[in-house]
Amino acid sequence: MAHAPTKQAVLPHLVNGLSVDVEDWFQVGAFEEVIERGSWDSLVDRVERNVTAILELFAEADVKATFFTLGWVAQRHAQLIRHIAEQGHEIASHGWDHARVHTLDRASFGEDIRKARLAIEDAAGVAVTGYRAPSFSIDHRTPWAYMELAEQGYAYSSSVAPVAHDHYGWRDAPRFAFKPLPWHDLVEIPVTTAEFAGKRLAAGGGGFFRVLPYAFSRWAIRQVNRRDGRPAVFYFHPWEIDPGQPRVAGAPLKSKLRHYTNLDGMAPKLRQLIHEFAWGRMDLLAHREAQRVESEAA
Ligand SMILES: [Zn+2]
Repeated sequence: MAHAPTKQAVLPHLVNGLSVDVEDWFQVGAFEEVIERGSWDSLVDRVERNVTAILELFAEADVKATFFTLGWVAQRHAQLIRHIAEQGHEIASHGWDHARVHTLDRASFGEDIRKARLAIEDAAGVAVTGYRAPSFSIDHRTPWAYMELAEQGYAYSSSVAPVAHDHYGWRDAPRFAFKPLPWHDLVEIPVTTAEFAGKRLAAGGGGFFRVLPYAFSRWAIRQVNRRDGRPAVFYFHPWEIDPGQPRVAGAPLKSKLRHYTNLDGMAPKLRQLIHEFAWGRMDLLAHREAQRVESEAA
């Protein structure tokens, strides 16, 4: 009797990293000029319902992922965070309140990640070993960031977008896992880029996944898996599956276009992506990639 090939049979060693950046609709970098941090507690909370929907989507596909969570959110939604962990997903840190790393100095960055980790571990009841910088804001301006992460005992970071972009990016960074500190095991797993006509394209999720046709993401992940022979790293946000979220007045038009396009098409698109490729937690991927970097250096 013939069996359809499973995802694992097609890509035996390539489990890609699936991640969710847990923040609410009012905490995104593109709106930080128009929504003050001080007003967050007065705004309608959508993160609980959206994360619950994501958990259902993941359970349906029997896939595990990493939830990079803001400390601010963990402090207010302890039960939700514990529930995510109980479902077998990884809980990691997305910093305290979405301050981008290059707007901080080493001391205030250290404070930010310490405070976030305490709140997240308190809520989740498990240790945090991974970090993702808000808006992929580790770049050439923050040479101290990895030292601080290493000092605080993190095993990995997924905080670099090795691409040029108007809001973020460190265009000269390696496309795949690297050890930023020669004396420490900390590994950085950049978000996925694809190459086209000699240029790097952001292809790891967020607005690109939502706005562009699904075929673009499929092409990009296949290129990374098959041509480069490396795992892809994909991310999205809870508010991206939420067409009912409040609309932000006064935000720049470009930000609004990017934020509100195709929110209702996101869930079916995610379902397709999750079924088409093999996915897993970032901590497991980081562990495999760290071994690879080690063996390539030997
Ligand atoms: Zn974020």
